[in-house]
Amino acid sequence: MNRKILRILSQFLVLSIVLMLPIFNVLRFDINTTELYLLGQAWSFSTSGGGYISGSSTLNHGNSSLNFLIKGVLPWFLFLLSFPIWGAILGRFFCGWLCPVSTIMEWGDALIKQIKRTLKYFSASSDRDFKDLFYGLLSGLISLITLIFISIIFSGFFIAPRDIFRQIITLNLTSNLIFTTLGMAGLVVATVLFAKRLLCNYVCIFGLVQMLAAIVSPISMRVRFDRKNGKNCTNCRGCENACLMGLKPRTLIKMSTSCINCGECMTACEKELGVGMKLFHYRFGKGNPLRGTAP
Ligand code: SF4
Ligand code: SF4
Repeated sequence: MNRKILRILSQFLVLSIVLMLPIFNVLRFDINTTELYLLGQAWSFSTSGGGYISGSSTLNHGNSSLNFLIKGVLPWFLFLLSFPIWGAILGRFFCGWLCPVSTIMEWGDALIKQIKRTLKYFSASSDRDFKDLFYGLLSGLISLITLIFISIIFSGFFIAPRDIFRQIITLNLTSNLIFTTLGMAGLVVATVLFAKRLLCNYVCIFGLVQMLAAIVSPISMRVRFDRKNGKNCTNCRGCENACLMGLKPRTLIKMSTSCINCGECMTACEKELGVGMKLFHYRFGKGNPLRGTAP
């Protein structure tokens, strides 16, 4: 299967799983009942016990805290611990192929580019291309519907999804739902418009952990430029234009920490030189420590 399609499918799959977490009470905090749901179990904060206790628990507070740590916190801690392992083996592959935040930013960026085509249509004094108008307006509509849909689903992390569904069906929206949804929409728009890759490079702890693990690991996977065949490069700059992280893929070195192994540079190079002739490859460890010297 085509690399780009495979990446879109994997991004879609992970984003869908994340959006379903509140529906199955895997992770959500109910602002109405102030209960915390972790892996299907509800926990209430007990001021007398100084911690979270399970609603169905008949244990004393000491046992309940231990129960909370084992059933609620430990699985997430183990999940977080998996990130250095990801980084040590696959570099920042998770960021480029699976991260839901990165997916929203990337897809949001793509839609914004299309919306700009509408502006191009209106600003052109002559030779207006109707396709610019059509795709621009279509992207605007898709963006709006997706934003509303995602914001409502994200609200499910704070309001019981069943309540949200009932309110929407009966058109009886509470102020809690309206404000939470508006807040989520604001967060998504701000992330797409302003956070961009700053978040990935300087804020996200998962990205940072993968970066560090990739640097120290002798086997981590990297995208490498094939210097031996570098003379075939036409200097079309397709790889640079396609790079999601704004890098110059031909000059990547082992210490480069920003590359998310998305493979977009490979796809661009395949388009220019043909499949089988591309100048970028995934390599593990020292495999092929190439450094770009092409024009
Ligand atoms: S260098 Fe290539 S693989 Fe790395 S982020 Fe840029 S486009 Fe993706
Ligand atoms: S896409 Fe390939 S041919 Fe074009 S500049 Fe990059 S490496 Fe060279």
